[in-house]
Amino acid sequence: MRLKPLMMLCILALGSLAHAQGDPAVIEKILDEGKSRNQVMRHLEDLTIQIGSRLTGSSRLQQACDWALAKFQSFGLQNCHLEQWGEIPVGFLRGKRQLGRMISPTERILEFTTRSWTAGTNGLVRGQAVLAPDSVEQIAAHKNDFRKKWVVMKIVPQGQQPMTQEQRTAFRTALRDAGALGTISGSRNELVITSGSFQNLSWDKLPKDVDITVRASDYAAIVDSVNAGKKTELEFDMDNRFEKGPVKVYNVVAEIPGTEKPDEVVIVSGHLDSWDGPGSQGALDNGTGTCTAMEAARILMAAGAKPKRTIRFILWTGEEQGLLGSRAYVQAHKDELPKISAVLVDDGGTNYSGGLVCIASMEPMLKAATDVLNTAFPDMPVKVTVQERMPRGGGSDHASFNQAGVPGFFWTETGVSNYPYVHHTQHDRLEAAIEKYLVQSSVAHAVTAFNLACADTLLPRQPSGG
Ligand SMILES: [Zn+2]
Repeated sequence: MRLKPLMMLCILALGSLAHAQGDPAVIEKILDEGKSRNQVMRHLEDLTIQIGSRLTGSSRLQQACDWALAKFQSFGLQNCHLEQWGEIPVGFLRGKRQLGRMISPTERILEFTTRSWTAGTNGLVRGQAVLAPDSVEQIAAHKNDFRKKWVVMKIVPQGQQPMTQEQRTAFRTALRDAGALGTISGSRNELVITSGSFQNLSWDKLPKDVDITVRASDYAAIVDSVNAGKKTELEFDMDNRFEKGPVKVYNVVAEIPGTEKPDEVVIVSGHLDSWDGPGSQGALDNGTGTCTAMEAARILMAAGAKPKRTIRFILWTGEEQGLLGSRAYVQAHKDELPKISAVLVDDGGTNYSGGLVCIASMEPMLKAATDVLNTAFPDMPVKVTVQERMPRGGGSDHASFNQAGVPGFFWTETGVSNYPYVHHTQHDRLEAAIEKYLVQSSVAHAVTAFNLACADTLLPRQPSGG
């Protein structure tokens, strides 16, 4: 026997009477809007193509905050604002001009990165590649060998200690004194990973060393060529710009106010900032989580959802530097924490929202809140998994809340996308996004938040000491 969707919903609603849910007619509208007129890919295209990567403290992240704020306003949300959480001493903007090439003996495009908040080149800089010596003394003794050269760092053999931070600094300083153009290292494989830090930076003492990492195959090509005695010429053009600070940094906040208990809150979130290595658009980390949260907001508004509790949408920033935006938020809103029912975080790439991890007391409510998704997307089921304790750690913003005793959930990512291939690498681009998964994820956010916001109670807390 085939049941009509509405009847199915009624049965599901009856089955979970113990846990009052959002109005089934509204849920039906949410599913219809989310499945038939989903715009998550449109948001993601705007974010990745028109804006691009979004390093915390960069003017491009500010542009993205303003864009997201305007979007929330256009959907009709209330209390839309940017909430400052801190300051970054020195801003950094990676210009779009990022080029690396081998010129001779053969032409070859190099895939590379430099750490954020480090120097680029002043225009196109061409020079011969030479292998690094073994010691600072050798640099001092043969300064001319390194003048106007790209110095290729050696791979530390297995079992041998790598240089300490201090030794590395001394080595680089000696090379700079000798007039070298910069250093080139190889990554472990074909991925180049971008990270970096603004700690201890000041406008008067900006980093000067040009320190490039190329992917393993490019590194091997350079070293083989030099070792074969061929004149090996490389050129780089890296528009890395420091921006004068202090730079104010913000989370983006918008709300659908609750009709009965407006001071009780369900948070739907993802982080808007990203790493910014050459090639990356910050598409899957975390453009996707940003856009599923935004699309959930749009869907709920379009469906006319009137939750009993407030649903608050937050796009965190400073996530990549250590969950800075969410940690500061928890600090600043200490008094309100007991009234935050749950915090949903989508930050694991483009796969579908395949599950939530919780403790036993939360299971019935979360199952009731997500049940209807399994009917709406039968090939992308949501699994609620019970653990003895809520996770204390975890690499995203839910951890900031769990540490403060507020139930924080990181959507388990399920699907065919290979996240490590894009995570902080040159491949974090729009092409890697999978639309049908993002449709499900945005609807999962909307339905789960709406049901939790209409439930009889807040989610139970983990007993303290847990
Ligand atoms: Zn992330």
